Amino acid sequence: MANPKGLIGIIPMGTVPKHALEVISDRIFDLLGIPAHILNRVENPSYAFDRKRGQYDAAQIMTAAESMTWHDCPKTIWVLNVDLYIPIFTHVFGEARDGGSCALVSLYRLDSDAEGSPVSEEKLMARAAKVALHEIGHLFSVPHCTDYRCIMHFSTNLDVLDEIPMAFCHYCTAYLEEGVRRAGLR
Ligand SMILES: [Zn+2]
Ligand SMILES: [Zn+2]
Repeated sequence: MANPKGLIGIIPMGTVPKHALEVISDRIFDLLGIPAHILNRVENPSYAFDRKRGQYDAAQIMTAAESMTWHDCPKTIWVLNVDLYIPIFTHVFGEARDGGSCALVSLYRLDSDAEGSPVSEEKLMARAAKVALHEIGHLFSVPHCTDYRCIMHFSTNLDVLDEIPMAFCHYCTAYLEEGVRRAGLR
């Protein structure tokens, strides 16, 4: 029987490697036990480009994403490859509203190290999956966590992100379970 309680949707926005979408889908299932389906690609969000900053406004993309609904997917992850910002930070790897329906994940800053040299495909995929899982945590109302061994630990720094394991801590796991149940996905 198909999962009767809903799926998580993964939506490529613009050009993103298919492998990244597959890895994100796999890790969502591993950590949450919820199937994640890759949906059709949508256009790159040129409407959110800020000429002065040379970056894309995450809040504007989120508002556009939230105006769209997918019947089987109460929560959707939008994966893109542009430099995202929110006003209080120089950049963000991803963005989600507490208990929201849509999260953004950008690969843009994940493919190189602090010196600008490219990182391995494996590292890039792990980073993308961690950012995705972190933002999904927010969609299920899990706040930031002080434990640096937890995926809900906040980071705009790649070295910190690399040190975070692909796991939710004990407390965040409990929050997450509660959030998933409340959202009707389990
Ligand atoms: Zn966060
Ligand atoms: Zn935690």
